[in-house]
Amino acid sequence: MNQVTVTKVREGIWIFTEDAPGTAVDAYLVCGSERAVLIDSLQEATGIYGRVRELTKLPVDLLLTHGHYDHTGAAWEFAEAGCAIYMEPSDLPLLPDAKRPLNEAAVTPLKDGQIFELGGRTLETILVPGHTPGSAVFLDRKDQIAFSGDSFGSGPIWLQLPYSLPLSRFQVNLEAALEKLEEIPDLLLLQGHRNQSPRELRLDYVHDLLDTVKAVRDGSLRGETETMEAAGQVFPYAVVSHGAMLGLFYSPERIEE
Ligand SMILES: [Zn+2]
Repeated sequence: MNQVTVTKVREGIWIFTEDAPGTAVDAYLVCGSERAVLIDSLQEATGIYGRVRELTKLPVDLLLTHGHYDHTGAAWEFAEAGCAIYMEPSDLPLLPDAKRPLNEAAVTPLKDGQIFELGGRTLETILVPGHTPGSAVFLDRKDQIAFSGDSFGSGPIWLQLPYSLPLSRFQVNLEAALEKLEEIPDLLLLQGHRNQSPRELRLDYVHDLLDTVKAVRDGSLRGETETMEAAGQVFPYAVVSHGAMLGLFYSPERIEE
């Protein structure tokens, strides 16, 4: 069983870190005065609902940044406990990859701009399709935090998956998200795999990501094409580095739509 460490970030916010082989994965408990949410549900760890209950007795919803197995691992526990589970429905086909998959019927569709009022703390949904078609970021303006899942990567970003969006479409979504995020100059990104980044991520990281996407599109950055296997498929990818982007993985066949 992978070890899970719970760390308090500030009043009402905790990080749950699962020490999964390969890369650690993070989930976040965010509490207001009336309600709480857990953002993502780790990879293979169990007993997560119980550990949330040790920290808060408030009604809790589960918000999923996307449907990957390493973010939806304990989601079934929240379904069994009768919690509402929110995810953008485009990611439903990814759910069966989890060790104990969440039933599609347990998922409430998440919408762009959807607000979660927790009491004295509000989370705003920003959809950023790219890494997966249903990827979302949750913005806490008061605490100046964006819970970004894998949308902005965690050092490297994976946009090469067979269902990832072409870079041209990801750029449009990223620019729209950035417009909202830039309203908070001191924004801190709390992402899905903090261990993959050598430093705290701020807005400059998102700008570096945007610049890297543009550079691949205009041909000034180009990686060697290789192949990888994931989810039972073999597909080409290339990787480039620029600024804070330790690796932007993309499909050479899907740069433009
Ligand atoms: Zn992912």
